Amino acid sequence: MKFLGTLVTAVLLMAPFAHAQELDLILHNGTVIDGSGAPAVHADIGISGDRIVFVGSSAGKKAKRVIDVSGLVVTPGFIDPHTHTAGDLSDPKRSHNEAYLMQGVTTVATGNDGDSPEHIGDTLAKWTRQGIGTNAVLFIGQGTVRREVMGMSDAKPTPEQMEKMKGLVDTAMNEGAIGLSTGLYYAPGSYSTTEEVIELARVAAQHGGIYDTHMRDESSYNIGLMNAVRETLRIGKEANIPVMISHIKALGADVWGQSTDVIALIDDARKAGIKATASQYPYEASGTSVTASLVPRWAEADGKLLKNIDDPALHERLVKEMTENLRRRGGPETLLMTASKDKSIVGKNLAQIAKGRNVSPVEAALQIIRAGGSSVASFNMKESDIEAFMKQPWVMTCSDGSEGHPRKYGTFPRKIHEYVYEKHVLPLEAAVRSSTSLPAETLQLKDRGLLKQGYYADVLVFDPKTFMDRATYENPTVPATGVQYLLVNGRLAVDKGELTSTMAGRALKH
Ligand SMILES: [Zn+2]
Repeated sequence: MKFLGTLVTAVLLMAPFAHAQELDLILHNGTVIDGSGAPAVHADIGISGDRIVFVGSSAGKKAKRVIDVSGLVVTPGFIDPHTHTAGDLSDPKRSHNEAYLMQGVTTVATGNDGDSPEHIGDTLAKWTRQGIGTNAVLFIGQGTVRREVMGMSDAKPTPEQMEKMKGLVDTAMNEGAIGLSTGLYYAPGSYSTTEEVIELARVAAQHGGIYDTHMRDESSYNIGLMNAVRETLRIGKEANIPVMISHIKALGADVWGQSTDVIALIDDARKAGIKATASQYPYEASGTSVTASLVPRWAEADGKLLKNIDDPALHERLVKEMTENLRRRGGPETLLMTASKDKSIVGKNLAQIAKGRNVSPVEAALQIIRAGGSSVASFNMKESDIEAFMKQPWVMTCSDGSEGHPRKYGTFPRKIHEYVYEKHVLPLEAAVRSSTSLPAETLQLKDRGLLKQGYYADVLVFDPKTFMDRATYENPTVPATGVQYLLVNGRLAVDKGELTSTMAGRALKH
């Protein structure tokens, strides 16, 4: 009883102080979706410093600024687990990360697809020093590590080389990487065996990291989509590491409809205790390059691509395989040039370019590669597969944003505008969860991804009537509309629909 008495006295003494404490910001009367998947509620949100102080009623509470958000939707800031923003964030001219802020994204992961900065610690320190517009986390790329040790060799690593690679992953994890990424479809990742990847993933696992993969095959190029999923799940099991399949898809007519089998495989693995998730962007076209989509990997070995494509002894085999790859992707009409040194080809598809030059599509592709290459939007997905994947509770939103593809500017609002409001593929609460708490859990971001007392104040307020993507394949860099307010660590990065100059992002360590 004495203890209770003391407690009551303490609470009474503290109460007037707590009451008088002024908050920094109150978002008043919003439609609040907390990110957990729970139904929307009407509530106020109080923010002090970089944290959420309450979600509920603000009656009797004061703040330096009160924003009326009636009629607007309030969610956690979106979290993108797969981007290519490392270059943007390192360049003071682009480090504001506007394309993402205008979609409501407050945290990005980068270093995906096996391709990352070599030095994780230095890169994170640079971002902290220079300032960044969104929060950011980094993967260490397996392709980067392999290139550092073995160049573009397609050989099996020697035991010494293997030890070196493991050492580099270990250092990267110590410096704050959140896990290991692979791009097993791309050279040099494609030269690695599953066993080689497992050894490196084990190092990341020892640090509690995760494994993120652009799989060896999303189509019928080599081992096939199903076997690529099996390989990923095996890596998860044998390295004892959570696995995230990047931009999950069924690429090309040979594998259309296989989403059903892929989903069953992953569901079974999850039931068996493997922590498997996936990310996805809501577009029918993938974004890649002429080289990556059409040229077989053997022609890239040792960095001799330009030599190999002009070697008469290899020509017949090369043309035959490129013709097959073009068929697999859907033909020359489905490859749209989106960014190239040669501006005259941008906006045209491979069929149009071939016709204009009076050569075969494969010969036109080789000419483009010789002249420095081109980014392409490759229309290769079926809407029914996209929707089937999107409905899974383990699929999160990612942009995989790259130059020349509208996904870098439109992914997050597009998912909500197109797949929630227009096509009713999933409820708003589920779409928000897939862009907030699910990636936060997967990337192991502490105190982010939910609107909850004590969590970081990464908060998005959007207008459901105008929240949509505006970027198209023709104009891929048009910012999205509808973000009214966006808080990054409690500071307004977007205020009344306008971008501020605030650089409130943080480089986050695992
Ligand atoms: Zn990728």
